[in-house]
Amino acid sequence: MKKKPIIIGIESSCDDTGVSIIRNRNVLSNIIIHQKIHKKYGGVVPELASRQHDLNITKAVKQAILLSKVSINQIDAVSFTLGPGLIGPLLVGASFAKSFSMGLEIPLLTVNHIQAHILSHFIQNANINNSYPKFPFLSLVISGGHTQIIQVDDFFKMKILGSTLDDSVGEVLDKIARALGLDYPGGPMIEYFSKNGNNKKFIFSKPTVTGLDFSFSGFKSDVIRFLKKRLNKNMFFIKQNLSDICASIQKTTAEILSEKVQKAILKTGIYRIALAGGVSANYEIIRTFMSFEKKDKRCKIFILKKEYTTDNGAMIAITGLLKYEKNLFDSIHVTPYSKFKTF
Ligand code: AMP
Ligand code: MG
Repeated sequence: MKKKPIIIGIESSCDDTGVSIIRNRNVLSNIIIHQKIHKKYGGVVPELASRQHDLNITKAVKQAILLSKVSINQIDAVSFTLGPGLIGPLLVGASFAKSFSMGLEIPLLTVNHIQAHILSHFIQNANINNSYPKFPFLSLVISGGHTQIIQVDDFFKMKILGSTLDDSVGEVLDKIARALGLDYPGGPMIEYFSKNGNNKKFIFSKPTVTGLDFSFSGFKSDVIRFLKKRLNKNMFFIKQNLSDICASIQKTTAEILSEKVQKAILKTGIYRIALAGGVSANYEIIRTFMSFEKKDKRCKIFILKKEYTTDNGAMIAITGLLKYEKNLFDSIHVTPYSKFKTF
């Protein structure tokens, strides 16, 4: 095996076309083309997303190669997201990756999207800690499609300890933001407007699910019911209280997540926690988890730099690289899957 393999990673599971080139865990380029078309619909429209990927993927690959300063013939393998995700968008990435692999006669590496979010901590300097989490650690994956606590015993030895029983946390923040009249994606908008808000002003209900599973639909309904009730009495309620509402929503969200992770720590005796996924960019969530380290010296919290939180090609490339190092190659006959299977 070559000492410093160069891997291209292609991500197309939802509404971001991500292409990255890495050499030996170092990111040489990481191009993300966000699809703005979904803004006016308040959520991702799968057919439009597939078409946008189709339009953007060649551009993203060309840019990533150019920026990386490697020549196309130096690339050792191509990795891409096989699932879970939206099937149309996944098929665009898969078809491109397969053609790329056949054209250049280089190996193909398939990637589980959730595993990739977790393994993004193994990109050189990807987290604010500038260090790799030691095994075993717990990962909290919080994104537009997933909310899970996963025990990570090794790169490809992971087990799910808890999952959402209904909506994902990102999806709920996006829906609440929509009810507040904010743009999609809603998570960053809620964060933006919460800046000067009083996070204790409004109290929202927290789920009562036992064990390590999550539930977010009750919280979402509670917030939306509350908004409707207040708007009936005062049509300017949201406008007059936006900062306090956003800050209170964020606080409740951070509490729901952190209380479950605390339970997971007690259950497993594992004190290293690595956050991943788009929602882990949220400052209130980061602040809440960082406070663990002050409360208990055994805790070590790993926070990704912003560019590696939401879907990106680098997380696919690093997972591909780790598979390449173990000779875990895939056949051209693989086909994408939309629902999570196993790791
Ligand atoms: P992903 O599926 O990993 O690409 O993450 C996308 C999700 O992350 C969307 O639901 C966004 O609303 C959410 N998100 C992104 N940035 C933030 C943020 N700063 N605070 C809260 N949610 C966020
Ligand atoms: Mg994701």
